[in-house]
Amino acid sequence: MIRLKNAKQIEGIRSSCRMLGAMYRELIPLVQPGVETLEIDCWTRNWIKKAGGKPAFLGYGPKKNPFPAAICISINNEVIHGIPSKCRIREGDLVSLDSGIDLDGYISDQAISVEVGKVSDAVHQLNIVTRECLYRGIAAAKAGERLLQIARAVESHARTHGYGVVREYCGHGVGLSLHEDPQVSNYPHGPNPRMNNGLVIAIEPMINMGKADIRVLNDNWTVVTADKQVSAHWEHTVAIFDGQTEILTERVDQ
Ligand code: MG
Repeated sequence: MIRLKNAKQIEGIRSSCRMLGAMYRELIPLVQPGVETLEIDCWTRNWIKKAGGKPAFLGYGPKKNPFPAAICISINNEVIHGIPSKCRIREGDLVSLDSGIDLDGYISDQAISVEVGKVSDAVHQLNIVTRECLYRGIAAAKAGERLLQIARAVESHARTHGYGVVREYCGHGVGLSLHEDPQVSNYPHGPNPRMNNGLVIAIEPMINMGKADIRVLNDNWTVVTADKQVSAHWEHTVAIFDGQTEILTERVDQ
């Protein structure tokens, strides 16, 4: 069931999204060669705590294997849900960061892919096109239109460049919990409800340089590309309200 949000709830989610944007702006310059991804998680936890929020990702998921960090850090062939570890970031990596904050019960969700130093032209292109897919998806999110318009916009742009669109994972309703209805696919698939005022969704294309196929590592979290090629991930939390579409999370890529 889709939980449409009222103005007060959207204001709460907007505040949470602003906090997340402020965090990312400070975090991005720290994503440097030699840094352990565990250090980034530690920094993220502390930052969110100090700011007065709670990490929305920490402890999320099945009781037997909850996500153990405040931020997903997925490098190169890792698509999403990378677990911070002793692994060090290297020059030329594409580092996808995905995090969310629970601020007084209002949840934000945003992902960005950071180029560390000089990446290859092919990786840079993948990163740019994935971000374009996100903004094309957002442009298709309009009051009164159907949800799968987003999927069509994302998929067609990725396909133009010969990229694979990950099918097994998708965007989602967000705001009062981390994952709510509806599923927001990146390819036309599944239910196609109308987008009504009060809809708050995370739009998050995951685009592979090679084939769309993925697999999950033995940690039961880390999703990697089956062909070991690089993947990029961009995400915004978006609200439709009063007939307008607003990106609630901040553009930290500018
Ligand atoms: Mg998300």
